[in-house]
Amino acid sequence: MIDRILPDLYRITLPMPFRLRHVHVYALLHDGRVALFDTGMNIPETYTVLDEALSTLGKTTKDIDRIFLTHFHADHCGIAGRIQEISGAAVHLSDVDESRLQQNNRLEELAGRARQFFLPQGLPLKAMDTLIKLMAVFRKATIPFRVGSPLVPRERITLGDRTFEVIPAPGHTAGQMCFYFPDEAILLAGDHILPDITPNLSPDIFRLEYRPLKSFLESLGAIRDLPVRMVYPAHGDPFPDLPKRIDEMKEHHAERTQLIVEALRGKEKTAFDVSGDIFGTELPEFDQFLALNETYVHLVELMDKGVVMTGERDGLVLYRTT
Ligand SMILES: [Zn+2]
Repeated sequence: MIDRILPDLYRITLPMPFRLRHVHVYALLHDGRVALFDTGMNIPETYTVLDEALSTLGKTTKDIDRIFLTHFHADHCGIAGRIQEISGAAVHLSDVDESRLQQNNRLEELAGRARQFFLPQGLPLKAMDTLIKLMAVFRKATIPFRVGSPLVPRERITLGDRTFEVIPAPGHTAGQMCFYFPDEAILLAGDHILPDITPNLSPDIFRLEYRPLKSFLESLGAIRDLPVRMVYPAHGDPFPDLPKRIDEMKEHHAERTQLIVEALRGKEKTAFDVSGDIFGTELPEFDQFLALNETYVHLVELMDKGVVMTGERDGLVLYRTT
């Protein structure tokens, strides 16, 4: 499915097997070539739909000369490597996310670190095993690619008649970037700002000093007043009111922080137990993991504020209010 945003900028909606069902990528026609912003997942349907969409523009995959990736997740960069193989396209991703992608490829180290981090947070062994199996699946979901030149925060890139700015948006991943077209007042937001859900926030188990929630709220604040006519997210419909959506997401996180403090009042709990209080205890295993992540990133900020402190018992990290 393809939608025209500008005479030379198109949104292509690609299928996804997961709950979100789809991911949007964006194609900019320039100098007879195509620049692609994100690529979709490495599943057969992506190639079919992308080829069809490009053919309505009189283009093929061979015409793609640049690929700009918002972040390293498989639904965004899954087939960058395949396109690069076909067309020789230059691929651009932030340094931070590229090194995270490399770390994910070292499966044994990744699994070791994941066990070391998540088991003390209370994640059940069964969910841990499922997660480690999924890590192998996720690795295959991205075809390896070479990054030409990394994306540099605030750099301006001109392609044909259009210029866009690379806007740092750490939070959902530490190296996420949005792409802002100032003349057209358009923001390609990746997973930074979604219309219907708040993007998942997870600790970086290779870099625990990274604070996802703090970074997310700060990078939302930094773009709140950007002149934007329309936000184009990677999932869900475009929407015009950027400050309104940012305020909603901030409010959502403030409420969640409050729920976590209440869950801990007078009790000592693992992060996993707190996540059960907030998100329920009947979740599928992968969702248990996501819920734990969301809870943990809030606990980190509450510890920083001195509202929550930790102790240890039987190899488990226990949180309580101060
Ligand atoms: Zn993502």
